[in-house]
Amino acid sequence: MKNIIYLDHAATTGVKEEVLKEMLPFFSIEFGNPSSLYSIGRRAKRAIEQARERVARAINAKPKEIYFTGCGSESDNLAIKGIAYGLKSKGNHIITSKIEHHAVLNSCKTLEQEGFEVTYLNVDKDGLINLGELKNAITDKTILITIMTANNEIGTIEPIEEIGKIAKANNVYFHTDSVQAIGNLKIDVQKMNIDSLSMSAHKFYGPKGVGALYVKENIPFKKLQDGGHQEKNKRGGTENVAEIVGLGKAIELANKNLDEYNNKLLELREYYISEIEKKIPDVKLNGHRTKRLAGNANMSFKGIHGGDLLLKLDEQGICVSTGSACSSGSTEPSHVLTSIGLGAEYLQGSLRVTFGNENTKEDVDYLIKNLEEIIKTWR
Ligand SMILES: *Cc1c(COP(=O)(O)O)cnc(C)c1O
Repeated sequence: MKNIIYLDHAATTGVKEEVLKEMLPFFSIEFGNPSSLYSIGRRAKRAIEQARERVARAINAKPKEIYFTGCGSESDNLAIKGIAYGLKSKGNHIITSKIEHHAVLNSCKTLEQEGFEVTYLNVDKDGLINLGELKNAITDKTILITIMTANNEIGTIEPIEEIGKIAKANNVYFHTDSVQAIGNLKIDVQKMNIDSLSMSAHKFYGPKGVGALYVKENIPFKKLQDGGHQEKNKRGGTENVAEIVGLGKAIELANKNLDEYNNKLLELREYYISEIEKKIPDVKLNGHRTKRLAGNANMSFKGIHGGDLLLKLDEQGICVSTGSACSSGSTEPSHVLTSIGLGAEYLQGSLRVTFGNENTKEDVDYLIKNLEEIIKTWR
């Protein structure tokens, strides 16, 4: 792993050694079905419940408010569609933003086809929603506000606590896609008035293919997958025990080291941004200057094609991204960069660098040296 320089932690992260170690027995000797009543089944069940407690503790929720899913996208689907279907008799209006992940945007699109109405809030040039606009958008038909905690492309952190207050004052449920935030920000669902929250293990050094959803107790949300009684009747199917164990361990480790991790990332990010601004002309930072994830540096290089830059850096063993991994391969400009009103000369030239655990200042120097050379040649 060390002959590549991995700078794309917003796309995914590698599984930590301690996480893998806790998962391994559940692929082999501890193979019991958690629904089985004999001891090997009960041990699997206990492992799941321990993971549930770890997730609950990390966000100040109750274990019974945590549901395990197959990924962050599934958590978003289950929360948004589940709450919408559950509250159909009360209203049909949902409020979201234009810069959400496609798991949220496309869930909303599907609901629109089924008769729900969705307001997509604008964001300003930094990617922040406007709280006044949010208040004005609420009607007596509004049942749900879904706004992401932090954006996956530009790293901007939304005013979650204020959104929670507005939602509560208006008797509207508030879901937040925290897939980028968990493992990077301290989240307290009670203090922040969050009713529902999505997370995904592979964004915080856990395995791919497992997510969790918090839904506050007594919210009447509908299941999307029929089956057995698993996950309190909200998601039928035998649980992915090993991965759930991995998610639990990963979130516990992440929360324990949150401050230290953030300080490290912040130092790398600030060094990178200031050096780039010093050494390369016609460059622009995308996203809010300070209200942003510590590890995110999304910068646009005027007149440069981000996709070509990515491939050139790959030849040098550097992994970065142009926007979100989910929209790579599509030629459409990113919906997030379009929404913040980025000018045409900068729109194609964005490069998202997201730092993580194993990165060093030497990695940043190597990236900067390569960027300087490539951009000087191309311009
Ligand atoms: C990665 C991501 C998702 C999707 O999570 P998966 O586990 O990959 O399905 C959703 N929302 C945001 C903000 C993300 O960054």
